[in-house]
Amino acid sequence: MSTPYIADPCFLTLGEGFADIVEAAKFSNLTLRYRNDRAAATVGLDGLSDDDWIQHFGHFKPLKDNLPQPLAQRYHGHQFRVYNPEIGDGRGFLFAQMRDDSGRLLDLGTKGSGTTPHSRSGDGRLTLKGGVREILATEMLEALGVNTSKSFSLIETHEELMRGDEPSPTRSSVLTRLSHGHIRIGTFQRLSFIQDNVRLEQLTNYVLTTYFGESSSADSKDNMLKLLDFVTSTTAQLAAETMASGFVHGVLNSDNINVTGESFDYGPWRFLPHFEPEFTAAYFDERGLYAYGRQPQAIQWDLYQLAGAFSALIPEKDLLDIVEQYPKRFEGAMHRALMQRLGVKPKSQAEDGAMLTHLHEFMSRTGAGYAQTFFDWFGGGASRDRAAKSPAQKHYASKAAEGFMNAITSYEVIDAQKLDHPYFKQNAPCTMLIEEVETLWAHIADSDDWQPLYSKIEAIRQMGEALGV
Ligand code: AMP
Ligand code: MG
Repeated sequence: MSTPYIADPCFLTLGEGFADIVEAAKFSNLTLRYRNDRAAATVGLDGLSDDDWIQHFGHFKPLKDNLPQPLAQRYHGHQFRVYNPEIGDGRGFLFAQMRDDSGRLLDLGTKGSGTTPHSRSGDGRLTLKGGVREILATEMLEALGVNTSKSFSLIETHEELMRGDEPSPTRSSVLTRLSHGHIRIGTFQRLSFIQDNVRLEQLTNYVLTTYFGESSSADSKDNMLKLLDFVTSTTAQLAAETMASGFVHGVLNSDNINVTGESFDYGPWRFLPHFEPEFTAAYFDERGLYAYGRQPQAIQWDLYQLAGAFSALIPEKDLLDIVEQYPKRFEGAMHRALMQRLGVKPKSQAEDGAMLTHLHEFMSRTGAGYAQTFFDWFGGGASRDRAAKSPAQKHYASKAAEGFMNAITSYEVIDAQKLDHPYFKQNAPCTMLIEEVETLWAHIADSDDWQPLYSKIEAIRQMGEALGV
């Protein structure tokens, strides 16, 4: 049975002061490149014809009973630890809000839809390559069980963009994403910065009720502490899922942290080839602030900024007591995420912890592929024969592997049927390393050949089905 479309533009209940009404850029030539019918089905929009799809997600004709005009959200944030009060939705806007098949409130938001009062010197546009990269990141993360925004639509807009870090002029696109909200830590920071305590309380109540299903109390301090507690958990979970998937987001600024804990806004991301804490995604991250191994602390640093946004109203100690729960929550979530990625039944906390320590030692000593290791040992002892035929077998036979081999082979598969999936009959996992991203893009750039991208999306979804997350 298909899900009905249920419009619910709740953002309007906030009233003015949170966003600016904007107009979408007028694109005269549009080519639909990707429509995510799987995501559309969760919000009852999969039945749209391609023409209607382009009307809504290329020309931004309002959806029925939804926002009458797009809203560019106001926010600030720390970028690489420097506070920036000049940001906000500079090339995107909130287009519509609706309920999904489980009743959650989701946003359709854009990237590359034109300039807004927050664009500064930017052109408000998204490169086609940037759009393709966001599709690849979101499809891959979703398949690996990471709570991520979904790429919903990508439409080529046939403009020529100038960029300093790409051969220019370059092709252009407009992306629509489906997200569990677009309220960032930076949305709270802005209200604190402008000392608008009324709206700070209002936003707190909005997020508590809309995204966390809580009723807000008459005591605004209680509400803020409750919200901080929720966000401590959602961000610890976000950090754990990101780390287990081997993903490096690249720009974990506080304006890119959704308070619902959904990962989003993909720029210079990469997946790890092999376990390497210092591995950095963004060429401009010269100090490695957002290197793979620093991501959990980087996200906690952002969480401190949320606490800071409440600090004019709440004693510091009360705020810190909550934020300091983050490491413990992260550790628990990380442990669960790794066990899930290995597809094995937990034993005791101590034994599982020792096995995971062996896993990391093995990966750092041998340089075995990150994704390959999880693929080969998915299911623990039940995968012994499969792993023996792996291209990484030499690593498993090495001295450095002994501790991990002894540990992992004593674990039982959670669901033996999963190993019968054709995905596990391959000898290598589905990965998304930078070389492949560049090759997929080269097919599009050189010969407008989109088939390799579509085939890759199919392969990623097959992996997602096999892992069953
Ligand atoms: P990001 O690094 O993508 O999270 O973006 C940081 C800030 O820069 C946000 O306020 C964006 O809206 C803005 N921004 C990035 N690229 C552009 C662009 N091409 N035009 C206008 N604003 C942009
Ligand atoms: Mg951003």
